[in-house]
Amino acid sequence: MTVFACPECNKKISSRAAICSYCGYQLRDVTEADLAVFRARKLRDRIYKLNMVSYAVITVFIGAFGWYWWDSGGFSGASSIGPFILMGLAASAYLVVRALLFRSRQAQRSMRAKRNMSSELRRNL
Ligand SMILES: [Zn+2]
Repeated sequence: MTVFACPECNKKISSRAAICSYCGYQLRDVTEADLAVFRARKLRDRIYKLNMVSYAVITVFIGAFGWYWWDSGGFSGASSIGPFILMGLAASAYLVVRALLFRSRQAQRSMRAKRNMSSELRRNL
């Protein structure tokens, strides 16, 4: 097995691959099963990334709450507007990320529900 650069995205891929696993560029005739595996992998990667983003957003929210605590002298005084803006942004971003995650998981579930799934596809879902 050798590795070479994809003509489309220039990332390194296996010479045995029919589809570039990064951009989906088709290196030779691909079957419907190859495409299904590619889509399943993309979906899995997307869910992973969305989960990471949601953790990052939660961290920002906690940080903003800490800032609020610090700014208000341990909740004893008034705080500046900054922490509230940051908490609002983080909460909004969290809702958007959760909505995207929900949609991706639904797509994954409907892919799993299909019959006649190849073992390779099953591994990637
Ligand atoms: Zn590519």
